Amino acid sequence: MQYPGDSEFGFELLTCRWAERAWPPDGDRESAVLVARQLGTKRRRWDTVIVECDPAGLAARREFGDRELDSDLLHVVRNAPADWAWYRDALPHPGYPWRYVRQAVHRAASRDLIEKRRRNNRIELRRRRSYPDWVRRIVAVENKPDLDASAARALGDQLDHDVTTALADEVWVATAATGDTVSPALLEDLPVEVGILSLDFESWTEEVEWYPTTVTPEEEDGTDREETRLILAERAYGRGWRSFHDTMRPDCRHFELRRDGPALVPWCAAKERRQTAAECAGSCGDWEPEPPNWRTRGWPIEGGPGKGVERLLADRREWLRDRETARE
Ligand code: SF4
Repeated sequence: MQYPGDSEFGFELLTCRWAERAWPPDGDRESAVLVARQLGTKRRRWDTVIVECDPAGLAARREFGDRELDSDLLHVVRNAPADWAWYRDALPHPGYPWRYVRQAVHRAASRDLIEKRRRNNRIELRRRRSYPDWVRRIVAVENKPDLDASAARALGDQLDHDVTTALADEVWVATAATGDTVSPALLEDLPVEVGILSLDFESWTEEVEWYPTTVTPEEEDGTDREETRLILAERAYGRGWRSFHDTMRPDCRHFELRRDGPALVPWCAAKERRQTAAECAGSCGDWEPEPPNWRTRGWPIEGGPGKGVERLLADRREWLRDRETARE
């Protein structure tokens, strides 16, 4: 059993990369796939989130740009009319004051998501394009590299919550392969609907120990679930899983990206090991800035290695979006 830094963080990054390459386990990929990490609601945050998308829908979504649309922007973009109309006539009442909607209209226009004009002292809008129906399924994965009896018991309640709320269509626990099958006693502590996946990051192979049951409700009980899922999918689209650099210190001279099989994961040259996100922070005692001459004198990557790391990760995300959009 091996994963970077032997930390849950390292395991999580490899799980994300595995999902990007190999989802779904034991099956052919029929949807475009986006993978993100640490997404959820106020009550519940999932380690890995896989969004299965309609490829043509995802291509249409990309017309709205690379950044995520938050709930206020989604309200404007999804309801913007084909013909010019006063925003208060055109958009459904959002349940909060109109002045916030007006701000969102300005924000949407500044990102070219809609068109806006002023007529008779009123702000009017119209859409540039229809917001597509691009999300097919959302799959939540809880990463537990050491799935022992106490971990299974501790997870049981959270997973029960996931199954009952059915915000995701399918729920899995991913664990590190040990060479043994997961013991039936462990399964008893987990809801029967939750799938169990063993991942081996030496061979980059997976084994399904238990198949999940789809928990999608037969009928949508209103718009709340749909809206929350869309907000999650938008976050997954905008951030992906490579946004780990946002909460780490790629501006530190010791920060590197190193290969682990097909994944590029952080490496700390000062600690000479894979660092966790928690230790690679402002409080790290080994942090040192990039020397200024790395940024100015002939360093091959404009802006120095820190900026280079960010750009490399952003390029990888774009490349993956291209690949997934091109899927039949
Ligand atoms: S020295 Fe600290 S801040 Fe710098 S890369 Fe290592 S863990 Fe991150």
